[in-house]
Amino acid sequence: MASVKVRGLNKRFGQTHVLRGVSVDVPDGSFAVLVGPSGCGKSTLLRLLAGLEEADDGTIALDDRDVTRLEPRDRDIAMVFQSYALYPHLTVRENLAFGLKLRKTPPAEIEARVKEASEMLGLGPLLERHPRALSGGQRQRVAMGRAIVRRAQLFLFDEPLSNLDAALRAQVRVDIRKLHDRLGATSVYVTHDQVEAMTLADEIFVLNKGVVEQSGPPLEVFARPRTQFVASFLGSPA
Ligand code: ADP
Ligand code: MG
Repeated sequence: MASVKVRGLNKRFGQTHVLRGVSVDVPDGSFAVLVGPSGCGKSTLLRLLAGLEEADDGTIALDDRDVTRLEPRDRDIAMVFQSYALYPHLTVRENLAFGLKLRKTPPAEIEARVKEASEMLGLGPLLERHPRALSGGQRQRVAMGRAIVRRAQLFLFDEPLSNLDAALRAQVRVDIRKLHDRLGATSVYVTHDQVEAMTLADEIFVLNKGVVEQSGPPLEVFARPRTQFVASFLGSPA
């Protein structure tokens, strides 16, 4: 679907230097997890990838296309937030179709894609319901469905499990990874949870105070942490 190349991103909010020269490479088809403690800049990095914030300097390329200054709608990216951001007055079907309608997708094509996504996610029986009549896990699946119907090149997840209870979290985590594999997608997933990172990722990027301290396959980083921070954050053996 898409590769991601981030080079030397810096982002300040007033006096706060939130991202300090961040570089990230995600190969086509890979599942990358940005992991680090609260406040280290994970969401900011994701929002920069989505085009919801502008970098002070540095570049972002998708499939070698420089998108650093492109509007979100021109980036071909789908983002799944922790608060599901569903439209409460629309049914599940309408929530799934909404973005495609905005893009003037032909109605028959919209119907086909909604059908495909709802089959993948088991949303068929819920299509005429409103979000308030869904469980947290079901809402999360609708949010993923909206990303799927877009046929986006890149999926961005910002702590998508944090509103779910523990039992559901494990289930949805598995679902997200399965979906990624099935779609052949490229995904960038943000979490503060080490276990989530270790179980989901092809590659992890450990972020601390706006700096990528180490990246690589999760077991490798866990076994050979390069900094004290990485070791204690991942709970590596001493
Ligand atoms: P994380 O997602 O890792 O918890 P964030 O990227 O949300 O971290 O935030 C990193 C830092 O940037 C925090 O100190 C936060 O307060 C600050 N920050 C994030 N967004 C803004 C903003 N719009 N204005 C000012 N400060 C912000
Ligand atoms: Mg965050």
